[in-house]
Amino acid sequence: MIVSSAFAGKRYAVLGLARSGLTSVETLLASGAQVTAWDNREEARATLEGRATIADPLTIDLAGFDGVVVSPGVPLNRHPIADYARAAGVPVIGDIELFAQARGDLPAHRVVAITGTNGKSTTTALVHHLCKSASLPVRMGGNIGLPVLGQEPLPAGGVYVLELSSYQIDLTYGLAADVAALINLSPDHLDRYDGFAGYAASKARLFAMQRADQHAVFGCGDPHTLRIAEDVAAGRSAGFVHVVDPAALAGQADWPSLQGPHNLQNAAIAVEIARLLGLNESQWRPALRSFKGLPHRMERVAEARGVLFINDSKATNPASTAPALAAFPRIHWIVGGLPKGDDLDECAPFFDHVVAAYTIGEAGPRFAEILEPVMPVSRSEMLCDAVSQAIAAARPGDVVMLSPACASFDQFRDFEARGDAFRQIVEALTGGPGEG
Ligand code: ADP
Repeated sequence: MIVSSAFAGKRYAVLGLARSGLTSVETLLASGAQVTAWDNREEARATLEGRATIADPLTIDLAGFDGVVVSPGVPLNRHPIADYARAAGVPVIGDIELFAQARGDLPAHRVVAITGTNGKSTTTALVHHLCKSASLPVRMGGNIGLPVLGQEPLPAGGVYVLELSSYQIDLTYGLAADVAALINLSPDHLDRYDGFAGYAASKARLFAMQRADQHAVFGCGDPHTLRIAEDVAAGRSAGFVHVVDPAALAGQADWPSLQGPHNLQNAAIAVEIARLLGLNESQWRPALRSFKGLPHRMERVAEARGVLFINDSKATNPASTAPALAAFPRIHWIVGGLPKGDDLDECAPFFDHVVAAYTIGEAGPRFAEILEPVMPVSRSEMLCDAVSQAIAAARPGDVVMLSPACASFDQFRDFEARGDAFRQIVEALTGGPGEG
């Protein structure tokens, strides 16, 4: 666990005791801070009984506190804690800000921070893999599900690779990342922001926190990202802003877990970051081939009778489904769930790759209406029916792919549960991961 003298003798309130919140409490306590902790769930509070003061920060006088640490899941634009803390003059921060404040006590190290609407986890895991393959001491943390404060500090020369959502950036003020990257930007999470401009501004803050001699890396696939790159370039010396062109990176056919145009973009960003960390091509190129990928992101779960089954449950918006459709020529597409919008416009350029669509979940009827004029559609409703109908229709060489373009919460606990269900159904109906 990371501890720091920066917190000794200070007072913090921690709101939200899921993984990152609990880790923040442990770091603060071990660093000699006083902690008042709260979660709406009683069992979460119980784990800290006797070690922290248990009280809802909204019900106590916050004067004299050094910070309110909130989990990124708390919607700051609606939750009263933001105004309440502001009135008391107390900053609202997250675990990444605590990490930023703790950096002074860590052995010499570098920080890579990666954000974007889509591809963050893949790119973060890939940068971690490239560094590890080059024998650099490396840890990954942040939105990827590993709280960075919970990890053992690295020896001198180490690299912390952080995946940051915009919510985490909103709670961070002093993270000067040695290399910061924005992969792409498209409308998402707009319920938490003042429109798209607010969401874009949140991502741009990652670069505003850097020093002029630190590197900024940008994807080139959308105008919003390029706009931010231009703004950052205006305030930074030449040679510190890098707009990455995926077309210039050859050899993708050799990287089994990095297929599709989106993964070429992720690979190009990761390679640029690796170069800026000092890796040379003989170090990063073999590692692109050995990268295993992450579960639920275009994950190959089975092959049976010449049909490949791909679990892309993590594609929770049309922008992330589009490149998955682009990756294969004949797809049986299982789509739907809890919709984030009313259309599939971003997927439309690849509709000619879809042999048939199988709609599920709350978005099913609306998506069927959109798709029926352009392709055969089964209104399957349930995932298990969609998979069995797709298996019945698929021919050797076809791909059956779950890439829902929707959140999962209408029918599943989360995207992982949805992807696991898909894998189990496929294995049950085809007789296992490798048959045929
Ligand atoms: P994030 O962590 O940003 O949600 P992931 O790496 O977990 O991103 O990928 C989420 C989904 O987005 C995957 O299903 C994948 O198909 C899609 N995706 C990955 N990289 C990109 C990209 N660069 N552009 C668009 N979509 C992408």
